[in-house]
Amino acid sequence: MFIHSFISLSMKEQKNNNKENKPIEKIISSVKKIAGYLCSRGWAEKNAGNISVNVSEQLVISLDILIDFPEIKLPKPLPELHNELILITSSGSRMRDLLKNPAENSIILSFNEKGDGYRQVSLDRISKYKIKNKKQLFPTSELSTHLLLHQWFEKNKMKEKAVLHTHPTELIALTHIPEYKTTAKINRLIFSMHPETKLLLPEGIGFVKFTKPGTDEIGLKTLSALKKYKTAVWEKHGCFAVGEDIDEVFDYVDIVVKAVKIFFLCRSIGCKPEGINLKELN
Ligand SMILES: [Zn+2]
Repeated sequence: MFIHSFISLSMKEQKNNNKENKPIEKIISSVKKIAGYLCSRGWAEKNAGNISVNVSEQLVISLDILIDFPEIKLPKPLPELHNELILITSSGSRMRDLLKNPAENSIILSFNEKGDGYRQVSLDRISKYKIKNKKQLFPTSELSTHLLLHQWFEKNKMKEKAVLHTHPTELIALTHIPEYKTTAKINRLIFSMHPETKLLLPEGIGFVKFTKPGTDEIGLKTLSALKKYKTAVWEKHGCFAVGEDIDEVFDYVDIVVKAVKIFFLCRSIGCKPEGINLKELN
């Protein structure tokens, strides 16, 4: 184990030496900022939502830190995540608390050289953020979906590094209306309500039928949708979105929600919205 960890560290150091080293604090600070946006939008009731970012290009974790944490085996190996470092929110964490203290509400998962296990590293060991109230942290209950997506990005050498799950009220409300429970109907709606959606999300967004959260099943369905789209709506629950950084991911969700809000605002005053002629957008 000791030798393997040392080899893995050396490989990661080599990888980092070849790239512009962005400090991990910059990424954590972006995650904090987005946590604040989620709260201000009313998308983060109680402990709703989770965030993960692949920080392998920003961080090297030294062996003396790694050996302080026991290795946790994955139920199924994810080989493409070998030696990767994923910053992820912890189970039960509130976005409003993440905004105040990221070290008490998120952790780094440091994957081993086979991608079949990881060590959880506290943020207070690798960043300026400190832990005041010590308690054992575990990754979000939606870990399966986050890891399947990061594995897909690595396997296909994609630029995507960030994943967001959140509960936008208007988007959830939309999926309670039977006529909008298809990918085609939702996309027609968002494109016709706000022209910017077509510019930012030309492929549209995906739709995942209601599935029990926290399961491999919803992870696989979400992965399937996000192979084609940047955002996938979870029926009667919320959405998952992906992008190169967490700011970009937030933009995708924000613009979709804006379009849906325009629709509901028209409906709330008894008006059936005229909508944009989609032919004019093409
Ligand atoms: Zn949720």
